[in-house]
Amino acid sequence: MKQVKKRRKRRYRLKTEVKRFLIYALFIIGLFIYTVKESFAIYKEFKYQETYEYKLIQKGYTKDEAITLIKYIKPATLDNILLEEEKNEYYYNIVTQKYYIEKNFQSYVDYKTYHTSTDYKDVIAIVNVNAHHGWYNKIFDTNIEDGHLMLVNKFYKLDSTYKREDLESINLAYAYAGQSAAPIVIENFKNMRTDVETELGVHLMVNSSFRSYQDQEAVYNDFKNISLKYADAYAARPGHSEHQTGLAIDITSLEHPYISNNANSFDKSAEYEWLKNNCHKYGFILRFPKGKEHITGYNTESWHFRYVGIEAATKMYQEDITLDEYYAFYIAK
Ligand SMILES: [Zn+2]
Repeated sequence: MKQVKKRRKRRYRLKTEVKRFLIYALFIIGLFIYTVKESFAIYKEFKYQETYEYKLIQKGYTKDEAITLIKYIKPATLDNILLEEEKNEYYYNIVTQKYYIEKNFQSYVDYKTYHTSTDYKDVIAIVNVNAHHGWYNKIFDTNIEDGHLMLVNKFYKLDSTYKREDLESINLAYAYAGQSAAPIVIENFKNMRTDVETELGVHLMVNSSFRSYQDQEAVYNDFKNISLKYADAYAARPGHSEHQTGLAIDITSLEHPYISNNANSFDKSAEYEWLKNNCHKYGFILRFPKGKEHITGYNTESWHFRYVGIEAATKMYQEDITLDEYYAFYIAK
């Protein structure tokens, strides 16, 4: 009897010890898990504090702004931004513009800083087309490999020897004497002319077309004899005229031969209105539109049309951008 009691007692003690052990073990495991979790959270927070997101938020940017800036600005530039005392509201407004190009970021900021009243859309356009340098103050060679999208303007220049080999004379039925252009330009002009005649009963005419570097030089020098300012206002410098490409034509109509300054002039005619809205279907663009003088560097010219191909012309028409802007964003970027 005594033996049995003793054994029971021992078994009871054993059970209690196991129980106690299990409780301890559970407690230790719990503590372990808690500590690991906590340290992980601390580590994560520590890591987060090293991110651009955290640092930008500390400077006063919202989380959304920070995420956007990180997406559109390269790290070296972000590092510089973080050296600044406080948030600069220009940054977010600049990077969220449709035609924003990362490599121009600093130029946009500089331009906006000195021209606070210029809206963001214009800041982007002006810098993209190099106009912030001032007309003719920075010169690049035109890339003739761009074909009918080649850019010639106050910053992009053609070599004095450049001349298309396939220039074709334009029939006197729809051009004044001595005109020539690229065959694709003539073909599309003819189609456009036929449709204008059908719809409006008027007859488009080519006033001016290909001009060689030397021809342009003569025109420019004539103006320059009056003054440099006058010359630059009314003629392109040699190498900087689209007429040298063989892709530009000056258009008026038989019915409205005068370009402007007249109640009956071409710029007030129905055919000009028609061309503005339809010429892209034939691959042409109105090259120097009204309201874009600060981007093209030219006063509006109701007569100067440039062939760029239907696809590009349609895009420029739909997006309301000039060839200069299109080139910067869709080709040179
Ligand atoms: Zn012209």
